[in-house]
This record gives sequence, C-alpha cells and structure tokens, in this order.
Amino acid sequence: MSQVVSLRRHSPVQRGARPGQAKPVRAIYERNCSVGRTVAILSDSWAFLVLRECYFAATRFEIFKSALGIPRATLTQRLRMLTAQGLLRRVQYSERPKRFEYRLTAVGLDLYPVFMALLAFGDKWLKKTAKPPIYLVHNLCGEVCRPMVACSQCKEEVNVKTVIYRDGPGAGVTPVVDAKRNRRPSDPTVLDRGRPSSVAQTLKVIGDRWTFMVIRDAFFGIRRFDDLQNKLGIAPNILIDRLDRLVAEGIFKRRKYQDLPERYEYPLTEKGKDLYGALIAMLRWGDDWFAHGEVPLILNHTDCGKDFNPAVVCDHCRKPLKAKDMSYRLNYRPRRDSRPLKLGRPIAFEES
Ligand SMILES: [Zn+2]
Ligand SMILES: [Zn+2]
Repeated sequence: MSQVVSLRRHSPVQRGARPGQAKPVRAIYERNCSVGRTVAILSDSWAFLVLRECYFAATRFEIFKSALGIPRATLTQRLRMLTAQGLLRRVQYSERPKRFEYRLTAVGLDLYPVFMALLAFGDKWLKKTAKPPIYLVHNLCGEVCRPMVACSQCKEEVNVKTVIYRDGPGAGVTPVVDAKRNRRPSDPTVLDRGRPSSVAQTLKVIGDRWTFMVIRDAFFGIRRFDDLQNKLGIAPNILIDRLDRLVAEGIFKRRKYQDLPERYEYPLTEKGKDLYGALIAMLRWGDDWFAHGEVPLILNHTDCGKDFNPAVVCDHCRKPLKAKDMSYRLNYRPRRDSRPLKLGRPIAFEES
C-alpha cells in the first residue's frame, strides 16, 4: 500500500497539429501495491460471495447456485476466475457423470483473515441490528472473539497512528492498464444475497477500485481534492461522486481550506481511520502470495519499534485466526441448502 503516483505524460503535441492527429497520450502509473489485487478480487460482488460460501464449506456448483441464487453463467465465470487467480482449485469428484468441485487453495484459505478484518469493521460501524449477524467462536481458546489486526512481533493491536512505512525492494510503479476495473460494481445490492454479513456491508463502503484508491491515499495524508485528482489521474466528476459517497458514509469529513477560489479537503473520520486494519490485512495477503518476496512496502510498528507483518488475531488468545479453528454462532436462521459441513461450522444459531 502506498501513495499512487500518476505521471501524466503529455506526449509532444506539436502546436498547430491537426485534429485527429497525434492525440496526447496519458499514461497513468500506479505505485506497486499489493492491496490493489485483493480489492480487485473482493470488490467483485459475486466473486466475494462465492468465496464466502467456500469459507462456509461449499464446494459444489449446485450448492453455490442455490445458496446465492446466482445465474449459472455468472457462477461459471466467477469460479473460472477464482481458479485462474489461484484461490480455488478444480477437483474431479465423480467419474460418471464427470463432475468437479471447487476447493480452496492455500492462497484462498489465507484470504480468510482479510474477511475477518472486514467483518470486524462492519460489526463495529455498519451494524444494522443490535446483534452482529454472527458471533465468532475461536475453538483454540473457546472464546467469542473479535478479530484484531495486530503486529506480528509484539501481538498488540496496530492502527494508523502506530504504523510507519518505507519502501521495500518491490517499490516502483506499474502502468494502469485496465480502466474497466475502476468501474463501480454494477449492482452492489447483489452483496446482500445469501446471508446477512458484516463483510458485505464493509465491501459496499470500500466499493470499487477508485473508492478504494481514494481511501488508500487518505492514509498517506493526501486529502485535498486537487492533489487526489492529480495523483490518481481520475476524472473530476468521478472523484466528486466517490468523495460524496464517502462523506455520506461517514468515512471522510469535508472541510473548506480556502475561500478564493473555494477549495476543499477530505480528512478521514475516526470511522474512516478504523479501515486501516483491513487495508493492511489485504496488503499482507497480496505481499505473501503475489509479491514474490519483493514487498513494495515495509511496515514498522512504532510501539515496539520492529518491522512487522499485519496479523489478524483473536483478541483473547492473540493467535492468528484460521478458518479451520472457527465456529460461528449465527444470529439468523441459515438456509437449509447453505448449511456448512465442515470448516467454520456454526454451533448454534439464535433468533434475532
Ligand atoms: Zn509491535
Ligand atoms: Zn482465541
């Protein structure tokens, strides 16, 4: 995670060039960042839902389909995408007829702590009912736990004020090639399918890639409209739209810092600052699996003075949270066809 550097390269446009000839080329370079990839995967609503059902032990096409009410072609495409990204693997389970199921790989399983960090944020800030949709029970200590993003060295909770960063060996810039990924998901209400979920609520806030990049830059102190626009190479109308949404969501405040001409800046609120844990949990996942040992960014915990990896841990025993060690107490009645069989088994559910 780091600030985004956009180098507006204005190719030499000769004075008097005729229209249609030698149009200026603008390439946007984004600083290498392991979070971008995670958000690209997670902010696709359907891909996210498929993964979530995987953590509830779904493996088969028909199970995903009935649990999510997802169109067949969409499900096929998302399973293919998650397999290509290395989060799922396709395993044949029947010879006649030939049938396959989808199992989480180590990469996919390791995204679980990111889900937990997003869940903790959603439970704290976006809860719609008195109780969160699920209570997490950590089987290793037997306690109902709150996921906490902690320093891997001292095991204490980290936040935006206690972490500093510097460039790692993988620092650099990569051209942004795919503009489509910056679009908002076509239908964020899709995220409400299947089960009530604090993770889905959080993803609705983080939203698309532009929204995410605006939030990420905020953590590096970029808060003025003009600076954001220059850094991100984002169209002003899109930036206005994203900032308005984030102010409405209570992630940013809007503050005038200059009268003539009128200029605004967007500092993070306390709620906004609390997204930091989830962001660095994503960073850790991206670094571990896709940075090939060359991390773009090194984090240092100022409380203990050590470089660290963000770890999502149980707030009671401080051990890292893993899908296989969790049980859930559901505050909603699950659908019969989406009952999990193993991996994170619900042990009880309560009527809300
Ligand atoms: Zn520490
Ligand atoms: Zn525990």
